[in-house]
Amino acid sequence: QVNIIWFRRDLRLTDNAALYHALKAELPVVPVFIFDTNILNDLQDKQDKRVTFIYHALQHMQEQLEKLNSSLEVYHGTPEEVYRKLLKKYQVEAVYTNRDYEQYAIDRDVMIAELLTQNGAAFRSYKDQVIFEYKEVEKDDGLPYTVFTPYSRKWKSTLNDFYLSSYPARKYYRSFYQQKPVTFPSLEKMGFKEAGLDFPGNAMDGHLIEQYDRTRDYPGINGTSRLGIHLRFGTISIRTLARKANHKNETFLNELIWRDFYHMILSRFAHVRAGNSFREEYDNIRWRNNDKEFERWCKGQTGYPIVDAGMRELNTTGFMHNRVRMITASFLTKHLLIDWRWGEAYFAEKLLDYDYAANNGGWQWAAGSGCDAAPYFRVFNPTLQTQRFDKDLTYIRKWVPEFDTLNYPAPMVVHEEARKRALETYAKAVKKQ
Ligand code: FAD
Repeated sequence: QVNIIWFRRDLRLTDNAALYHALKAELPVVPVFIFDTNILNDLQDKQDKRVTFIYHALQHMQEQLEKLNSSLEVYHGTPEEVYRKLLKKYQVEAVYTNRDYEQYAIDRDVMIAELLTQNGAAFRSYKDQVIFEYKEVEKDDGLPYTVFTPYSRKWKSTLNDFYLSSYPARKYYRSFYQQKPVTFPSLEKMGFKEAGLDFPGNAMDGHLIEQYDRTRDYPGINGTSRLGIHLRFGTISIRTLARKANHKNETFLNELIWRDFYHMILSRFAHVRAGNSFREEYDNIRWRNNDKEFERWCKGQTGYPIVDAGMRELNTTGFMHNRVRMITASFLTKHLLIDWRWGEAYFAEKLLDYDYAANNGGWQWAAGSGCDAAPYFRVFNPTLQTQRFDKDLTYIRKWVPEFDTLNYPAPMVVHEEARKRALETYAKAVKKQ
C-alpha cells in the first residue's frame, strides 16, 4: 500500500502542506506530477517558457529525491488516464494534494476524487497556495469581502504565527517510496522544445523588500521581487515569503494580500470563475473589438510609448511591470474599447507569472468591471503616467528605442477623444456606480 503526493502548483519538497501530511501518514509516499494534455494542448507556443520552467523545477526535485533513494514519477496524459494507470500499478490508500481554486482544477479534482473513491482510495486536499482561503477571512455576517481595504484589515487581524509557520516535511523524508529514478518523458516527446531562458527572480532579497514601497512603482528600475513565476508554480512557499515580508514592508505584504484576495474572489464567485464580469452590468458594454487595433496593441505599435514599451517587454521577456500592466490594460479597455477578455487572454498566453485569479482581477480592475475596481470614469492618461513613473524615460528608451525618431508611429487615438468615447460607451451600459 502507498500514498501518492500529487504535485501541481507546488513544485517543492519543503514547506509543502500536502506533502507534509502525506509523509506523516506513515505509508510509503509516491511523488507524482502529470503533464496534463488538457492544458498542454491549449498552449499555442510549443516553446512555451513556462513548460520549460516546470520541467526544470521537476528535474531539481528529482535530484533531491534521488538522494533520498526515491523518484518523482512524471506522466504525460489526462489526469484520468494517469490515475487509472496508477491505480493498477499501486494499491493506493490516498492521494494527497494542494488545493487549486480555478474552475478547471475544481472539476478535475472532483472527477479524480470520484474515481479514487470507486477504487477504495481517498482524496485529501490542503490549503497551501495562499495564507487564507475561502471563508477564513470574511465579513462578520459570513459574506465575502468585495473591497480590498477592509479585507486586508481583517486578513491582518486574523494572522498569527501559526498561519506563517512552515510545514516541516523534511522530518519525514524517510517515508518517500524507495525506487530507482524513473525517467521523465522528454519535452520533445510531449511536443515541446526547451526555451532555454534565464528565469527572473530577485530571490528573496531582504534589501529589496525593505525598499519596496519606494521602488515598486517605477518600471525603469529593478524594484519588484519578480517572484511571480515562483509563486505561480510553488517553487517558493507563500508562507516563507509572507514571513519575510511581515514587519519588514507593509506595502509588500499588501501585495501578497491582494494575491489572497483575488484567490478568495475566484473561489467564492462562480460567475468570475466562468469568465463573467464581476459587476454583471459591465457585460452590457458595446465593445468596439477592432482586430487591427488589437494587433497594434499586442505588438506595441500604438504610438503611446509607455504602452508600447510594456507590450514589447511582455513579448520579449514574459514579464511586464505592474504599473505598466495597469496602463496597457486601461489603454486597451478604455482607449480602444476592446473587451478586457481579449487582453486577459493575451496576457495569459505571454506572462510567465500568469495566474487566472490575479490576471482576471487585474484586468477587471482596469476595465472597471471588477470588485474593488477603479471607477470607470477614471481613465489613465498615458502621458501623465509617463511623467510620474518614467520621468527620465529609462523604461521607454529601453523598449522603444526608436520612439523619438520618424520611424515611430503617431498615436493611434487622441487621448481626449478616446477618453470621451469611453465615458459615453461605459455610461450607456452602466447606469450608476
Ligand atoms: P512584486 O511587486 O514583487 O509582488 C510580489 C508578489 O505579490 C507577486 O509576485 C504576486 O504574486 C503578488 N502580487 C503583487 N501585486 C499583485 C496584484 N495586484 N494582484 C495579485 N497579486 C499580486 N499577477 C500575477 O501573479 N499573475 C498574473 O497573471 C497577473 N496579471 C495581471 C494583469 C493585470 C492587467 C494587472 C494590472 C496585474 C496583474 N498581476 C498579475 C499583478 C501584478 O502585476 C504582478 O503580480 C506583478 O507585477 C508581478 O511582479 P513581481 O513578481 O515583481 O511582483
